[in-house]
Amino acid sequence: MSKTILWFRQDFRLDDHPALIQASKLGQPILPVVIVDPRWFETTRLGLPKMGRFRATFWKESIEDLAESIESQGGTLIIREGHPESVLSELVHEYDVSELVAMTYPGTEEAKCEDSIESQLPQHCGIEWVEGHTLLHTEDLPFEIEDLPKVFTPFRKKVEKDVDVREPMSKPAAMSWMPIESDGSWKDVLEQSQLTVQAGEWEPDTRSVLPFKGGESAGIARLQEYIWDGDHLKVYKKTRNGLLGANYSSKFSPWLANGCISPRRIWSEVKRYEAERVSNESTYWLIFELLWRDFFQFSAWKHGSALFHAGGIQGKAVHQEPNKERFQRWADGQTGSDFVDANMRELNATGFMSNRGRQNVASYLSQNLGVDWRMGASYFETMLIDYDVASNWGNWAYNSTVGHDPRNRQFDVDRQAQMYDAQGRYRRTWLQGTLF
Ligand SMILES: Cc1cc2nc3c(=O)[nH]c(=O)nc-3n(C[C@H](O)[C@H](O)[C@H](O)COP(=O)(O)OP(=O)(O)OC[C@H]3O[C@@H](n4cnc5c(N)ncnc54)[C@H](O)[C@@H]3O)c2cc1C
Repeated sequence: MSKTILWFRQDFRLDDHPALIQASKLGQPILPVVIVDPRWFETTRLGLPKMGRFRATFWKESIEDLAESIESQGGTLIIREGHPESVLSELVHEYDVSELVAMTYPGTEEAKCEDSIESQLPQHCGIEWVEGHTLLHTEDLPFEIEDLPKVFTPFRKKVEKDVDVREPMSKPAAMSWMPIESDGSWKDVLEQSQLTVQAGEWEPDTRSVLPFKGGESAGIARLQEYIWDGDHLKVYKKTRNGLLGANYSSKFSPWLANGCISPRRIWSEVKRYEAERVSNESTYWLIFELLWRDFFQFSAWKHGSALFHAGGIQGKAVHQEPNKERFQRWADGQTGSDFVDANMRELNATGFMSNRGRQNVASYLSQNLGVDWRMGASYFETMLIDYDVASNWGNWAYNSTVGHDPRNRQFDVDRQAQMYDAQGRYRRTWLQGTLF
């Protein structure tokens, strides 16, 4: 009997996984596959690996969690290392595969990878790319992606008026995973992979906002803790610009960006919370932020490689230089601006930085230091535990005045520090021993 490959790309979950549902519908035994792609670790123009240790650790934990969930349903996750187009072709021959199903993502490298697969997979194997990482489905939008509004507010107003979020799909109770005797060998493959080398061994910094652990189980636990157990959602709008601690904002981003939890699952939990506990500005605001996330995803689909141009999607003439010395001081948290330095040191030590911090350091690099914003975006790509191509490059461009908002978004970082860190607790936490 022919088989279906379900390729997990950056969607390490079983819940609300449209590609998994699609694969199940085909009615053939399913071969679940993860491919550790050497391109993840290629170096950027800054000479750093695209995926640094924080994200590599998170991905490794996420893959382990996925493998265990599949094992508990009687399946075996196949983990291979190599270029997806070659590995998938090999698997098609090895297991008599007639269908490949996987999620599709924005980003030029992602699109190139999908093209290579289409051209290299044996002709007899069908391919289905399924959407599933956004809150809204592109088919439900009241405009074509090419007509995505230039700024966020008209986009939000249109979709809030015209689009219903599709209900999340629970994982099927029983899956027809292809029976392969599990000898636990996936653990050895993962352990010996480049992903494990990249993750390395490190102790989490005790000042980290959260001990982020990869995987769907940890993502669901965080959802439960933030929304239900801690009841933090009801004050989200007031606390979300915070800088210290686990609960000033949801901290869902690493699980969202790495596909351990779906935005529709978060949306449905917010709706349940609104029905059972409280519905207010804060509960609305979390959905509002998920719409920001969608806006950047759709924008990346629309603009393709323009997302990475110096002049951004506006094609603007900018006067920012690739100045390595200024860049390095910024990256090391040694600019002399205490607020910027504290944020960069948090990023370097933990792989996370608040949204307030990200806006400030981005604006500071591109506008105060006059450095090419793409060096900062590239540094974030390496460092962030929640790196996402669309959110990262879109937000960087936005804060460097070449993105969706034509207004100048230069931040007065000293004023921001006074507003958001009036007592200096945040700066003291990250600049211990440094006078400011
Ligand atoms: C320069 C810069 C780079 C960024 N890079 C990334 C990135 O690589 N990956 C990433 O997920 N976010 C990125 N963001 C957006 C935002 O800073 C983070 O999503 C947020 O800080 C994560 O914390 P949280 O989960 O507690 O957010 P919350 O405030 O709890 O928000 C809930 C969710 O909404 C989404 N969200 C919130 N704000 C934004 C936003 N401005 N853009 C897109 N989505 C948003 C995130 O998925 C987030 O998890 C960036 C922002 C800036 C200014």
